[in-house]
Amino acid sequence: MTDFTRTEREIELEARTVAFIRDVVIPYETDPRIEHHGPTDELRVELQAKAKAAGLLAPHLPKEWGGYGLTHREQATVFRAAGYSMLGGMAMNIAAPDEGNMHMLEKVASPEQKHRFLSRMVTGEARSAFFMTEPDDGSGSDPGMLKTTATRDGNHWVINGRKWLITGALGAGVGIIMARTGETATQFLVELPHEGIAVERVLDTIDRTMPGGHSVMALDNVRVPADQILGEVGKGFDYAQVRLAPARLTHCMRWWGAARRAHDIAVAYACKRMAFGKLLIDHEGVGFMLADNEMDLQTTKLLIDHTAWVLDQGERGGPESSQAKVVCSEAYFRIADRCVQVLGGMGVTADTQVQQIFRDLRAFRIYDGPSEVHRWSIAKRLKRAHLSDKH
Ligand SMILES: Cc1cc2nc3c(=O)[nH]c(=O)nc-3n(C[C@H](O)[C@H](O)[C@H](O)COP(=O)(O)OP(=O)(O)OC[C@H]3O[C@@H](n4cnc5c(N)ncnc54)[C@H](O)[C@@H]3O)c2cc1C
Repeated sequence: MTDFTRTEREIELEARTVAFIRDVVIPYETDPRIEHHGPTDELRVELQAKAKAAGLLAPHLPKEWGGYGLTHREQATVFRAAGYSMLGGMAMNIAAPDEGNMHMLEKVASPEQKHRFLSRMVTGEARSAFFMTEPDDGSGSDPGMLKTTATRDGNHWVINGRKWLITGALGAGVGIIMARTGETATQFLVELPHEGIAVERVLDTIDRTMPGGHSVMALDNVRVPADQILGEVGKGFDYAQVRLAPARLTHCMRWWGAARRAHDIAVAYACKRMAFGKLLIDHEGVGFMLADNEMDLQTTKLLIDHTAWVLDQGERGGPESSQAKVVCSEAYFRIADRCVQVLGGMGVTADTQVQQIFRDLRAFRIYDGPSEVHRWSIAKRLKRAHLSDKH
């Protein structure tokens, strides 16, 4: 039976995270070091030092990596609290793409690779980037369209291709590259900067809270020693799934906090601002929008906790995380949109965090699988189940 019992550790960590975000992180939200393409590394390092002092740096990781070894359920509580500021995930080193990359290395990398790459990521010494998506006719929703190749040359592999939308590649210290090796794909670990890897251009995107932004990358004869293959040759797509199911859910957790923040700002405004002789919230049109927000927050919270519980049972949780990703990304966007509306003209200004949350949230319906691709795979599962029942 599904069990949502809260642990003492979870309650304590939640309180500590709430206080850290409120007292330490939120005052940084107007820091000029949040630039057009995201926060600078100077700001990231400063905030991560404060998280470390508060015992909140990468708290979910296993104890051997300096964390508390949280269950997925406990993680959900802490990540939701961290997401209350758009800088919270970065400050606590639990933001994308590093969190998903650390998870995958922890599960798949060899002890030597963990020592060399993961150890720098868990402390925040190095940021990481995951090189999967390609421009033009390359890999996107359909990973089978992967064009970047890796060819064996003695004890090395040589990688050639182009990638784009690679979050955090500018300034990253660790890269994980997905490349075609024959019929299948393999992932390679590289130290960055690398002489064969160039940032062609940092894209001008709608969001600005991920350090390094999102870049177009040229991979030109990148020579990688065979001992930097992540896991086994030909298992690249399998490992991407190891990364994706929990990573999708952690996005849902962090974004829940941001949606809650936008909602709290809208409620406070509606309880203060007057129009036509009464408070905004007393106008049914506004009150109903806020009521819908409240219901969206409650249902997404339950869905996250249920999916986390499924993962805690040792299941892969693919179907559950896929559904949670669609429901949460669409619900949060509705919430942010309603909050902009409730704030009126103020909603489109940068005078509150609502505008930034609205902008950054939009991409969540696209990365880690667009909603349509998840719906398509849910429909395929339905068809398979129905047809196998009939036989
Ligand atoms: C902010 C952001 C950060 C990102 N960070 C990274 C990163 O760090 N590393 C990385 O490798 N990639 C990253 N990506 C890329 C992301 O993973 C891809 O954008 C995503 O997989 C979709 O691929 P695509 O953009 O090529 O869309 P396409 O594959 O061109 O699809 C376009 C649209 O077609 C529709 N569609 C596609 N397939 C189907 C289907 N089967 N049924 C119905 N409709 C369909 C969907 O509406 C989809 O949105 C990032 C993207 C964004 C926006």
